[in-house]
Amino acid sequence: MAKKRMLLVSCCAPCSIGVIYRLKEQGVDFSVLFYNPNIQPESEYQKRCEENKRVCAEQGVPFIELPYEPDVWKKTTTGLENEPERGNRCRLCFKLRLQRAAQYAKQNGFDVFSSVLGISRFKNFDQVCAVAQEVSEAENIPYDMTNWRKNGGLEFAEKLGKEKNLYRQTYCGCKPR
Ligand code: SF4
Repeated sequence: MAKKRMLLVSCCAPCSIGVIYRLKEQGVDFSVLFYNPNIQPESEYQKRCEENKRVCAEQGVPFIELPYEPDVWKKTTTGLENEPERGNRCRLCFKLRLQRAAQYAKQNGFDVFSSVLGISRFKNFDQVCAVAQEVSEAENIPYDMTNWRKNGGLEFAEKLGKEKNLYRQTYCGCKPR
């Protein structure tokens, strides 16, 4: 039976490095997708994108960057500027990025998609999973719900981040407007 191909949605190098190493160890056939119209300003977007690309190149993992579309993100979240992190703005932000990823996965022969969007301590993992489930059903492609924080996942990612001297940002992505 052919091996399944996974598309892994990444927001940045520090959040994805541990998962990239784990998937490689497990022999999973996967590519990393960078679709982050939420990151502001563009110079910050470029910095995170380049760092994630570097990690993938070192590990021999295909890295796919979709166009940077800050206007699409702004339109999606207009009116929710004052929502707290983990609130409704984040829900729509996850939905936009995961929907685009699911569509890309289907159009490009991937069997399953997953993401590291819920790995950080600042994120609500259940919120990310609920949105991913909704997108998975709407787009008809399975989402891998693995909680990458577990089994020392967070600590492993932090250790690797330090060893590789990764650029680590101090905020999620959007800035108050
Ligand atoms: S805090 Fe992060 S997840 Fe939430 S809306 Fe902003 S960029 Fe998106």
